[in-house]
Amino acid sequence: MSRQRISYPAEYIPDPEAAHQPWLLHRRCMAGARWRPLFRPRFVDPSNLSLAAGRSRVRFVSSIVSAMGTDLDDARERMVVEQLAARGIKDPRVLDAMRTVPRHRFLPSELQDHAYDDGPLPIGEAQTISQPYMVALIAEVAELTGAERVLEIGTGCGYQAAVLARLAREVYSVECIAHLHDRARIILNTLGVGNVYLKCGDGSEGWAENAPFDVIVVTAAMPGVPGPLLSQLAPSGRFIAPIGEDELQTLVRISRKSGQWQEEYFGECRFVKMTGKYGFKD
Ligand code: SAH
Repeated sequence: MSRQRISYPAEYIPDPEAAHQPWLLHRRCMAGARWRPLFRPRFVDPSNLSLAAGRSRVRFVSSIVSAMGTDLDDARERMVVEQLAARGIKDPRVLDAMRTVPRHRFLPSELQDHAYDDGPLPIGEAQTISQPYMVALIAEVAELTGAERVLEIGTGCGYQAAVLARLAREVYSVECIAHLHDRARIILNTLGVGNVYLKCGDGSEGWAENAPFDVIVVTAAMPGVPGPLLSQLAPSGRFIAPIGEDELQTLVRISRKSGQWQEEYFGECRFVKMTGKYGFKD
């Protein structure tokens, strides 16, 4: 199977090494000696190639399928090493979650061989799955220990929720587009992820019935920080969101230290716009 050429949607987060060159690392991967095509069936038994009988063909096909699986596993490992660890993601639990969750299973089949590329990808309805680095950065900034209740706003395909679910006790995730909500539910069920609770609706207002949350993660760009969302945080909770203009935001973490709200910044980013009551208005 050949790798399909695609044009990437515009979401990116420059990392300190490749500042202002969003696709530098990606291009280096594509051109560099370490790059291998994802679907080269390296473990196919050549003796099967000339056999036409039904059972042998099944064996041949299943060899290709398992070789594809192995290549995707290799690609995921390379993603962890080259895109995450090399750019400063350190939390071993985050690296382990990124190593474990099969990102390709969240993508439309025609894009699965791009699942471990260094960029966001379309998931339908003009929305995107975030770049692996951004998923990992958000997870690291959340500082999860395994005991937390997390609210995610913007389920999308459910990938970030699945990563967070490996790091926290429970994840509540809200998506406003019914088709994406349904699709995420099916994928998460199929993968046996049991600690993610999904809701279809306007997540810019949070999910008051299940508050308070130890962490609130927003995966769509917000023009500001809505008070109602902060009020759904536990006293020592953390709110993490891309905040700014529709074209460029800053990843911000807001938490309360000694009774005062404190803001920390984790670099520039470009997410799809949040809609709804506290989202962008156009
Ligand atoms: N975390 C996702 C990617 C999110 S893309 C993943 O891992 O795939 C941003 C998502 O936020 C989109 O699916 C978009 O439909 C959703 N969104 C935008 N505004 C929203 C709102 N007001 N409430 C809930 N979801 C919203």
